[in-house]
Amino acid sequence: MRDGLKKYNSYNYYKFYKYYNPMDSPGKKMLESAQALITKTAEGMKLNREMINRLIEPEFAHEFALTITMDNGSKKVFKGWRIQHNSALGPYKGGIRFHPETVREEVQALATLMSIKCAVAGLPYGGGKGGIVVDPKKLSKIELERLSRAFAARIAHVIGEDIDVPAPDVNTTPEIMSWMLDEYQKIIGKKSPATFTGKPVSMGGSLGRTEATGRGGLFALQSLLSKLRTTNYKLPTNPTVAVQGFGNVGYYFAKLATNVGFKVVAISDSRSGVYDKNGVDLDRALKNKKEKGTVSYGKTITNEELLELDVDVLVPAALENMVNEKNMTKIKAGIIVEMANGPLTKEAYEYLAKKDKVIVPDVLANSGGVIVSYLEWVQGKAGFWWSEKEVNNKLKVMMERAFEADWKKSVEKKIPLKQAAFEVAIERITSAMV
Ligand code: NAD
Repeated sequence: MRDGLKKYNSYNYYKFYKYYNPMDSPGKKMLESAQALITKTAEGMKLNREMINRLIEPEFAHEFALTITMDNGSKKVFKGWRIQHNSALGPYKGGIRFHPETVREEVQALATLMSIKCAVAGLPYGGGKGGIVVDPKKLSKIELERLSRAFAARIAHVIGEDIDVPAPDVNTTPEIMSWMLDEYQKIIGKKSPATFTGKPVSMGGSLGRTEATGRGGLFALQSLLSKLRTTNYKLPTNPTVAVQGFGNVGYYFAKLATNVGFKVVAISDSRSGVYDKNGVDLDRALKNKKEKGTVSYGKTITNEELLELDVDVLVPAALENMVNEKNMTKIKAGIIVEMANGPLTKEAYEYLAKKDKVIVPDVLANSGGVIVSYLEWVQGKAGFWWSEKEVNNKLKVMMERAFEADWKKSVEKKIPLKQAAFEVAIERITSAMV
């Protein structure tokens, strides 16, 4: 095996080991860390080994190879999964990612975290996740449609509005959901808009979904600040915020936070960042990003500098593992809102929690997206539609309720919000397991 691999050039060799040997993959690390958190929390709750195994093992793991015809007439095979982790609280719920480096362990880790996230949010859902190993940028639009339809056809017999409800994730869009839903409906021979969420509004998508994750994160931050103001935690009237990542989540978080009086002094994307002590001009940054491919104007800063800024609130909203062993000792912000999935490594989380940083965990902070997906599902099942204002109000109520349960548990047990969120979720899931 190794000899054969020597034929690869060094990049491929590295890539093979980094991403395709599951023993070394980031996906494996992610799975181990999700399972370790569940085990540690469940042991603390004195759950027996069998119950812990039931919380860890996925109920179903569908693995398949999808063959599609490429534009040049050749056939190409793509590896894919739909992993259904736990359905105690309701149908499996979770996105489908298209990524060249996704592995089974990563999909399983994300399915596991969806079970926790849905339970923390108080949704009647279990957790699931799907993935295809593909770089969608290398496919033509019609190839992408063929692959999306092939995926929907392959999972059609194991999904449904009361069984498993997929949604978009990394590199999948409302348009891809519309192809998948169309294919699924052809197979089952009837309309079933509630089987997929994150659809275009014209096909039954919900108003307010685009901004939902950023908006939900802001509600979580506001809930936290109003609690902290009742303690002796020192907070200025207009807290300063640094946001890493200027995509869907980071942009809307920064925009909505600015609208309600937070001073967003720094933002960044994968290329560069901007610092402005009077508050970043977000419209200008967005315009620059669209026109020049970079958010930069005025005083630019690197991503590392952004993470290490002396601000009140740090919002990592880009990718996983951005705060890690290399930079954790330099983090100055007292409050961290985990808007990306897993932006702090296990080591960084443990270090910063010990330093008394207040960390709003990803399973709570970024659940606004799945909450509005739930509202889309309810609308699809009922066949009537709410205004954007109604959707936003419901999101606010649900985020505040989720935060309250987490905070209460954290105070009651004197444990950090992350551990408390896992405990709230595990209590809810196990109470529905017979
Ligand atoms: P996106 O692709 O729209 O944006 C990602 C942003 O991160 C881009 O601006 C990109 O330039 C930036 N980025 C990438 N690498 C970076 C780096 N090294 N340093 C700084 N910035 C970098 O993605 P998104 O939908 O905004 O998702 C961001 C995170 O939030 C992901 O972890 C995702 O899983 C999580 N999340 C998203 C949603 C949602 O509804 N979109 C819901 C829950 C969780």
